[in-house]
Amino acid sequence: MTADKTIVIALGGNAILQPGQKGTAEEQLGNVESTADQIAELISRGYRVVVTHGNGPQVGAILIQQEAGHEQVPPMPLDVCGAQSQGQIGYMLQQSLGKMLAQRSIERPVVTVVTQMVVSPRDPAFENPTKPVGPFYTEDYARQRMQSANETWIEDAGRGWRKVVPSPDPIRIVERDAIISLVRSGAIVIANGGGGIPVIERNGYYEGVEAVIDKDLGSECLGRDVNADILMILTDVGQVALNYRRPDQRDLATVTLAEITQYQQEGHFKAGSMGPKVEACRRFVDRAGEAAVIASLEHAVDAVEGRSGTRITR
Ligand code: ADP
Ligand code: MG
Repeated sequence: MTADKTIVIALGGNAILQPGQKGTAEEQLGNVESTADQIAELISRGYRVVVTHGNGPQVGAILIQQEAGHEQVPPMPLDVCGAQSQGQIGYMLQQSLGKMLAQRSIERPVVTVVTQMVVSPRDPAFENPTKPVGPFYTEDYARQRMQSANETWIEDAGRGWRKVVPSPDPIRIVERDAIISLVRSGAIVIANGGGGIPVIERNGYYEGVEAVIDKDLGSECLGRDVNADILMILTDVGQVALNYRRPDQRDLATVTLAEITQYQQEGHFKAGSMGPKVEACRRFVDRAGEAAVIASLEHAVDAVEGRSGTRITR
């Protein structure tokens, strides 16, 4: 594979926050630095890179801050909190990528784009909110909010009550043309964090909605919108497996579109974790992408060049 390619790199939660950490700024910046080192290595090898990332724990923390501080300052709605998380994670990536590029004497601008993702107001997800967001509360509080604010709350695995919001399918990125211009100008772009801020179009304008977008499905939209050759989803496992965590587990190295579709139908990939990654890869290759790769964070460089991870091709 030659280096003259555009890669969309989607960073999983572990790129920013490791299990067991509290989530201090120092911890998050430290994690982001080792990721940035891999990305800078790819850039030094000539790849055009667009970076996207998850935001679950970060937006969760911002929501707790809204709730805890609501007597002193007005809380911001979920879409604004999503924008905040894009800014904060993007800033950390800008700093760490800037540093890793400087260490390689590469002079390239690094920029974060606050990104809106168009969703359909008729998406069936709006009738069935499923994605828990924000802190845990008591049942009393949840029932009160369900009545006064027309929200949906659920009991979350014995840990308390949590608000749930819809997770609609991403359609297209509002800032697409701006992102393409930036990429063409040579900038390293960080975009569509957290899957993008969900918005619906009304008379040519966009309005934020109470929802979250799956970051893996969002990364596929980004890949398609910037005409990427490769979509690479980095996470905390080295490969996609069949019969995951069973005695007959089989790790996949290369798979075709037809094979992965069949494995999906056989139910090998868990909803909410590997499921959306595989679906994002399937869509990307199906819509003319050259290859999609799922790999572990530490092996990004090897994975792009076919020596690591699971690679899905036509
Ligand atoms: P991220 O933050 O990177 O999106 P997720 O936790 O959402 O991470 O998804 C990665 C997880 O998917 C792995 O840690 C693994 O436990 C789980 N997983 C579920 N099914 C599979 C599978 N078939 N093969 C590999 N990993 C799987
Ligand atoms: Mg995930």
